[in-house]
Amino acid sequence: ATPTALMVGTGRGAQLGILVTGPEVLEQTRRIDTVLLDKTGTVTTGVMRVEKVQPAYGVDADRILAAAAAVESASEHPLGKAIVAAAQHLPVRDVTDFTCTEGVGVSGIVGSERVRVGSARELGGHLPMRLHQALDAAHGRGATAVVVGIDGDDHATEYGVIVVADTVKESSREAVSQLKRMGLTPVLLTGDNTGAARFVADLVGIGQVIAEARPAEKVNAIKDFQRRGDVVAMVGDGINDAAALAQADLGVSMGTGTDVAIAAADLTIVDGDLRKVVDAIALSRRTLRTIR
Ligand code: ADP
Ligand code: MG
Repeated sequence: ATPTALMVGTGRGAQLGILVTGPEVLEQTRRIDTVLLDKTGTVTTGVMRVEKVQPAYGVDADRILAAAAAVESASEHPLGKAIVAAAQHLPVRDVTDFTCTEGVGVSGIVGSERVRVGSARELGGHLPMRLHQALDAAHGRGATAVVVGIDGDDHATEYGVIVVADTVKESSREAVSQLKRMGLTPVLLTGDNTGAARFVADLVGIGQVIAEARPAEKVNAIKDFQRRGDVVAMVGDGINDAAALAQADLGVSMGTGTDVAIAAADLTIVDGDLRKVVDAIALSRRTLRTIR
């Protein structure tokens, strides 16, 4: 009978490290035809490391790093963790008036100065040439780069760029090729820069990229697919993905990600291995074939 088969399928999923919020999730999983994948922490490990600090001419690199670390100490983002770790040898001050805008960046008062750390799209408007070059070079080889701005009393801003490297998960390329073989369309959906996103997409074999998407834009991207009649799975790990996970026909979270993403998802891949998204779809197809 139907409920029994679904229960068996659910139990089998749990053995594989695939947790669902209820047996009916398997029915939804079976109907998926488009799989949107977040980049950072989903296709990549999300364990980030600072590679380079590039200050503007006449600005001290350690001053940029310490100021950024002060603000990022209040952030949960992998970028923030990398910046804090890289500044361990420096005196890092407390931050007040901290604000975080998901998919954009963070800001706070350090000492008496306003410090902002965020995407080039948001903060990159008035950068000196050498910082534009640092951003382009980083994005061109798939690294993420953030802009740091320290607003001085004299209304001048001291700028720097911090380049942060991430690594594609070993399993991601195989997962993407399996998805394609099953007839599903993979799409990379990320808040990161277009260049960095394209680089990672090429590495793992994803054709379509939607980049520089803030959380609300991720939701809109999913609605666009749904309007065309696609049945969409969204796979993500971050607070910035939560609204998109809820909007998708099937929200899939990485067990290695944030609690907010896990709570918003219908299905959780405990160890964060993307091949298990493929396993989940295969399992749902098998389970429901048994019923019919
Ligand atoms: P993704 O979709 O790749 O997980 P996010 O939506 O979390 O990326 O972030 C998109 C972009 O916003 C980042 O690439 C970065 O430029 C900026 N950003 C987000 N959070 C932070 C932060 N804590 N510090 C600095 N920049 C941030
Ligand atoms: Mg992410």
